[in-house]
Amino acid sequence: MLHAKEQLLRLLRIQDLALEIRSARSVVEGAPARIEEIEGRFRERNAEYVALKERFDAIEKDRRDRTVELEALEESRKKYMESLMQVKNQREYSAVLKEIDAVKARIGAHEEAILKEMEEAEKLRVDLDARADHIEKERALVGEEHARVEAEAATAAERISAAEDERAGLETELPGDLIENVRRVEESRQGVFLARADKELCQVCFVRIRPQVYQEIRQAAQIHVCGHCRRYLYYEPALKAQPAAQPDAAPGEASASGIGALGGGPA
Ligand SMILES: [Zn+2]
Repeated sequence: MLHAKEQLLRLLRIQDLALEIRSARSVVEGAPARIEEIEGRFRERNAEYVALKERFDAIEKDRRDRTVELEALEESRKKYMESLMQVKNQREYSAVLKEIDAVKARIGAHEEAILKEMEEAEKLRVDLDARADHIEKERALVGEEHARVEAEAATAAERISAAEDERAGLETELPGDLIENVRRVEESRQGVFLARADKELCQVCFVRIRPQVYQEIRQAAQIHVCGHCRRYLYYEPALKAQPAAQPDAAPGEASASGIGALGGGPA
């Protein structure tokens, strides 16, 4: 089993990874809401354009529908005109004439409506065309924002998976009950399961550490948890101190992070 100091060095790195995973996860989970917000702002900024476009589309659809119906009406008017030739008496004649008048009235109504719609559509088109450049720019802007959010989420997802792999590797070197307990503290303490010990105090909750325990922490001889917040305590200078023989680590790097020797993961 690894010495307490070696275990603490791994916990220190796991703590960094855990916080990195946490922040990356919030980027991934926040992406859909950010995209929705971007789309919402586009609709809000361009509410007038959206309303004009909807009106234009509705008119065009109505005009198409009326045109189709107009053809059917013309067809039935032709049929009534033909049957007018075959009537046998005045009564039939008046009946057919009445039908023809009714069809003509409907045709007239459609033609009038179509004419009005064409006028309105023409005005709307001028209005829409005037906004076209602006809308195109707005759409491009939204597209860029959208892409940026997605790229950030993708990068964060990659960071999560790399950090999880590294953490899993480090955990294989640590006792199972230690890992389990670390996870429990981590969950109940917003991801922070380590606390620096200094001046006989836990530097997170500032509860006093017994002198005997503090000595062991200072020497990194034993792993202890804070009696109050239950976080694992470490004494920074003890972990940063360079072991006598460490052939592989670059001296500057190792003393700067205290974990230089762990860079490659499980040895
Ligand atoms: Zn504490």
